[in-house]
Parts: sequence; structure tokens; C-alpha cells
Amino acid sequence: MFNETSHLMFLRDYQTGTKRKMILPKERKSAGYQDIAPRIFDLSKKKSCSVQITLLNNFWVSQIDTHHGITLEHLQEFIRLWGKLSSITLNNSVQDTIHWKFTSQGEYSTSTAYMAQFAGHTTSIMPAAVWKVWAPPKCKFFAWLIIQNRVWTADRLLRRGWPNCNLCPLCKQVQETAAHLLFQCRFSQRVWVEVATWIGLNGDVVRSWRFEASVRDWWIKNVIERGNQRKAIASLFMLMSWEIWKERNARVFRNTAATMMMVVAKIKEEAHLWAMAGATHLSIVMPRE
Ligand SMILES: [Zn+2]
Repeated sequence: MFNETSHLMFLRDYQTGTKRKMILPKERKSAGYQDIAPRIFDLSKKKSCSVQITLLNNFWVSQIDTHHGITLEHLQEFIRLWGKLSSITLNNSVQDTIHWKFTSQGEYSTSTAYMAQFAGHTTSIMPAAVWKVWAPPKCKFFAWLIIQNRVWTADRLLRRGWPNCNLCPLCKQVQETAAHLLFQCRFSQRVWVEVATWIGLNGDVVRSWRFEASVRDWWIKNVIERGNQRKAIASLFMLMSWEIWKERNARVFRNTAATMMMVVAKIKEEAHLWAMAGATHLSIVMPRE
């Protein structure tokens, strides 16, 4: 199943032995030295060396190139590595053995090898939150950006020193951030309450949204972790976020402002168009009018 390199990637816990054959070449990304002290490993002049030679008279210390300066992080790594290596005792009368670290008996199994490939793997919320949701591509793209806080709201423009509107264009009271604009602003909150009531949901939850730290957290809690009607709510979140963003842009760039009820009416109108175009889940939760 594995070639030599990938096979060795998973073999970590070498039993005490001569350690003559265990080397720490660059390509073995999970070799201990590199994991424990990556910065020290970078400074090392000899990266491929047997453990036996490495440990002999602390040979590894003499190979650390300090000519370009070292930082506090280098020192911390050095101390950590020193502590680990000082506890190793080599036994010349014992041959090296290798131990499979993903099973308790140390024996290789294909199932644990398969699972090991997912170690450290993080699941993206984007497929469920954005890509598999019914919405026009421009709305999906916008949602993908704003969930990652990559839309040019005033707070981000300010950090770059670029011209910005500073206060939220919808309420003109608070500095504009993505989270404020979409669900913390009192204007947006009133829009959400109106639309929630329209589809038969309790609008009280909207008030608790001001405690959410980010668009991502808010989206996960209210869309991804939603049991029933998830697909419908996911489409609705995209539609409403998009319309609130459009109203914000109209105020910033065209100096025109719609009332809260006009934005709500636009959302309802768009929701009907989306339903007709194929947003089946959204059409189920919408009232017949
Ligand atoms: Zn506001």
C-alpha cells in the first residue's frame, strides 16, 4: 500500500537498540527532530544522520548554525529537544525494532494506516454552508467571502489605512464590521425579525445574535447545526446576507437608502424568484401568498 517513504512516515516509536539505521532525513516530515524542534532542525548543518552519531557527545549541538542569529523560540525549542534527547539510552546489544504507533500492540494494520492519513484533518464548513446550498453563484461567492471575514467592511479597510465609511451605513452608530452589518445592527436585526416571522419562526433568537463573535460562528450555529429546515435556512441566510450587503453598498456608493420594510419586501420578492428557479427547500418554508 505504501512506498518506503510514506510507510516510514507512520513508523515513529523506535524501540531501544543501536539506532544505527534510524536516520532523520529531510523528507521524513514526521521524524521526531523536526516535529519537536522545527526551527533548530532548520539551523542544523547536518540534517541526515543516524541517531547514534547524532547523540554521540551531543554531536547535534555542534551542528546548529547560529551565525544568522537565534531567537527566543530557537532557545525554547533547543531546551525542549535537549530534555527529550537526554533521556534516550542506546543499547548496543539490541537490534532496532519499529513500533506501529497507531495500535496498542505496536503491530501494523491497514485500518489504522488508513485512519492515520486523516490525523490533523479539519473539515471545512463551506460545502454544507455554501457550496451545496441552493443560491445563485454570486451569492455563494459572497457568502464564502464574508464567512471568512474577507469582505471589505470599514474595520478591514481601516486596518489597511484605506478610505472607508467608518460607521455602519445602516444605523450610523457603530463601526462597520461584517458581524455588525449582517446580524448585530439594529436595522439588520429588524429585517431578520420581519423575515423570520414571515416564514413562521420565532424572531426572539435574533436578539441573542449580538453576542456572536463572528459571521462564521453565527453561520455555524444557525445554519450548519440546525436540525430541521437546514437547507431552506441556508438559502435564506445567503439571500438575506446578500440583500443587506446590497443595501449597504447602495448607501455607500450611490447615496440612496431604502427603508427597513423596503428591504424586507425585496427579500420576499427575491425568495419567490429563487423558489421558482429551483430553491425547493426554501419554497417549502415560505408562506403561500
Ligand atoms: Zn449598523
